[in-house]
Amino acid sequence: MKTAEEYVESLRKLNLVVYMFGEKVDNVVDHPIIRPSMNAVAKTYELAGRPEFEDIMTVTSHRTGKKVNRFTHIHQSVDDLVKKTKMGRMLGSQTGCCFQRCVGMDAMNALSMTTFDMDAKLGTEYNQRFLKFLDYVQAEDLTCDGAMTDPKGDRGLPPHQQKDPDLFLRIVEDREDGIVVRGAKAHQTGAVNSHEVIVMPTISMREADKDYAVSFAVPADAEGISYIMGRQSCDLRKMEGGNMDQGNLFFGGHEALVIFDDVFVPRERIFMCREYEFAGQLVEQFASYHRQSYACKAGVGDVLIGATQTVAEYNGAAKASHVKDKIIEMNHLNETLYCGSIACASEGHKEPSGTYLVNTLLANVCKQNVTRFPYDIARLAQDVAGGLMVTLPSEKDFLSPTIGKWMEKYYKGNETISTENRMRILRLIENLTLGTAAVGYLTESMHGAGSPQAQRIMISRQVNMKEKQRVAKKLCGIKEESDEK
Ligand code: SF4
Ligand code: FE
Repeated sequence: MKTAEEYVESLRKLNLVVYMFGEKVDNVVDHPIIRPSMNAVAKTYELAGRPEFEDIMTVTSHRTGKKVNRFTHIHQSVDDLVKKTKMGRMLGSQTGCCFQRCVGMDAMNALSMTTFDMDAKLGTEYNQRFLKFLDYVQAEDLTCDGAMTDPKGDRGLPPHQQKDPDLFLRIVEDREDGIVVRGAKAHQTGAVNSHEVIVMPTISMREADKDYAVSFAVPADAEGISYIMGRQSCDLRKMEGGNMDQGNLFFGGHEALVIFDDVFVPRERIFMCREYEFAGQLVEQFASYHRQSYACKAGVGDVLIGATQTVAEYNGAAKASHVKDKIIEMNHLNETLYCGSIACASEGHKEPSGTYLVNTLLANVCKQNVTRFPYDIARLAQDVAGGLMVTLPSEKDFLSPTIGKWMEKYYKGNETISTENRMRILRLIENLTLGTAAVGYLTESMHGAGSPQAQRIMISRQVNMKEKQRVAKKLCGIKEESDEK
């Protein structure tokens, strides 16, 4: 396994084409806006090397019998699924942000099943290709970007009817030794911190869309790939050089638009090539795993709750009964998020490939809660913190020899707490609920791994309504013709 330092150094060797603010970024690794997100991924390497986290962060590879980082593992038991949930919460609670590495793990687990099922039905050889790729990822301890979401254009039209055919990523050329693909993947979490990009289709498809039913893995710096970094609210604070106003001084997340401008994919890296009838399965299995992965939000919630209790104490309001009750409510909501992820893992099962899959109904319930509860938790945090978290002047004002004294004097709360510490905790709450971390904690909770309606559709499909009705009718004495047959 790689150390955190080796991970960062391995990224330096990549030749990524990255754009931000309209300009090409020459040094991606040390860029002040990108670096905190890299630090968060580096944490997944660092903790895997620490004995106290060994059980949760590492696992024995079912392929080689060697110890590997859990982020490169294919789940072999319910225990593996439960530990994946625990890993997500733990890392969220250590970084206070999105640590990005789950998407590739979820993509690989979904592919381990779909490639197996495709081969069984169609006599293809995708599973062996995938396993060879997996062996490489495990041996090198790589971070993979799981690239699913296409730009999608007009939401009312399938891929082949879009005016611009590139709005879903597609195969544009077949060659003897592989294929050429064109298109883009949007909102790609951790894209420029990844060694490999694993592409999957974004929706289920029909025959007319078969050129869009494609899955493969390419190195993140393959020719033709460019990254355009997404902006985050308050991102420029990371460029200011201070250490108070950005709230979280160490970690962050990032998203990027990834352009595939006629990228060649060698045959041995293709895991689906026009088998449109399996696109839906791959999407659903990936989505189920990623909906489980949102245990990370409970981890980030831990940080926000800790910050809220702290600010209540700094404000001198911690003993007020309504404040105590609000913090209980935050904990209740946060633990409910965790319950959903643990539950879908505990109710997991073995698929024909040998991979363990979460209970998909419960994974959808988990994610549906995630689309709501972080917003409620954030609202309560802002309620307890008070308006100062958005009206506070800057660090430079606080440090100013002329006006700093006024800030020191008038922003004092609890007499035993320094004004500076009060400002720091307020900035952390601002970061989590309005700043760069709010991307991951709020809007990403809403839309990541599928927007709320996607889970509601899955919930309606997966509950056994007939059985519920049968029992209800039986209990009150309703007899139907079908009962008598
Ligand atoms: Fe992992 Fe959570 Fe980030 Fe998704 S949002 S990549 S589950 S940390
Ligand atoms: Fe996500």
